[in-house]
Amino acid sequence: MTQKSTIGLIELPELGLFDSNGNNWLSLDRGNALISKQVLLSNLQAAGFDPQLINLNRGDYQEEFGTATWGNTHFTKVYLGNKISDLDPSAYETWGVTNNFAQFREIACLTIKHLASQGKPVVVGGSDVIAESQSYLAAGATALVLDKSGAANAPIMDYVLGRTPREELSGVMLANGTQPSPRARQVLDPQDWPLPDVSIAKQCLGTRYKGVPIPAELLPTGSIFADLGCDRKCDFCQTPRYRVGYRPMSPERTLQWYKIQKEAGAKLINSASDQFLGRIIKKGGREDVLEIMQGIRDLGMSFFWSNGLELKKATLGRGINRKEGMNLTPDEELINALWGWDGKVGCYLAYVPAERPIFGQENYTKLLPWQEHCEMLKAIARAGVLYIRYGVIIGFA
Ligand code: SF4
Repeated sequence: MTQKSTIGLIELPELGLFDSNGNNWLSLDRGNALISKQVLLSNLQAAGFDPQLINLNRGDYQEEFGTATWGNTHFTKVYLGNKISDLDPSAYETWGVTNNFAQFREIACLTIKHLASQGKPVVVGGSDVIAESQSYLAAGATALVLDKSGAANAPIMDYVLGRTPREELSGVMLANGTQPSPRARQVLDPQDWPLPDVSIAKQCLGTRYKGVPIPAELLPTGSIFADLGCDRKCDFCQTPRYRVGYRPMSPERTLQWYKIQKEAGAKLINSASDQFLGRIIKKGGREDVLEIMQGIRDLGMSFFWSNGLELKKATLGRGINRKEGMNLTPDEELINALWGWDGKVGCYLAYVPAERPIFGQENYTKLLPWQEHCEMLKAIARAGVLYIRYGVIIGFA
């Protein structure tokens, strides 16, 4: 039997931003369930590789790596977790690094530089790689994965391992050589994402979520990403740039993922969809949503919407861009299913991104007018959700 090729998959350390009094201006966010790593580990394992999770986010080590100034305040940038240079760059046949966020770019690049230092290939993916490819190539990445669906993973791993790719390369950018098509020839549908082994699901469990108080009986946390892409095109958002349209899992498949989370021991699930309610605009979609939510409750599980839900799609008009979409009355049955909490199971936390247009309206069609927004929030609160958290993004530099 041929030995499976080993891939070291890195979860990056946490970022800290300390002022001169030693106060960290960023909330420590360690211990989250690993959402995309669970999908990626399952994808690579099903493709015949031996992926190993290396979580650099869990230790107590701190190291300064830069400075920043905001107004009159001087900050020291620190990474927290495990020491990057303790990793042996030759420990695996190839490396995988993912990063979805601009603020982790420098930490990702420090890691890539170290891992590439002894010549092993480093494949890098994630939303920030799509947004800012050149930084990752400059750090020493061998190849970048631009496809978010998972379709490009196995062929690019074959390629960097020196084998003939099982399919023609696409959806990737190479540091050297002829550039393949940046778009995947065939997008992998979330419905077809391999289900995780319970052992993988266990490795990806979490113990915290962004400072939200979670009682012991709801720990550990698990995660699910039940769809990919979005039907809208808000101009401040990266999701439409995945160019995959909107692809939901069926209710049956979604509940299979939940069941595996339960088998792994998870009680509270981070449902991290960018647009879970995208499924509601197709025929039968509202029933699909109700079926999923009832199925989760039947499993005795709780969940939270870490990326929020589109409030306009929880109206009787479902936010559909036709005359009936103008009915902005809250859909109480749907709201109870999505945000209801009965004291034991259901929705524990609702995140509400507080997005308001600064210029024009055209790229903000998902937003409810303010009065209707307030009515919707009242209906959500009545459904019983324990925590509602507003997210305000005030820009970054
Ligand atoms: S609805 Fe949400 S996920 Fe879709 S484009 Fe707008 S912000 Fe992004």
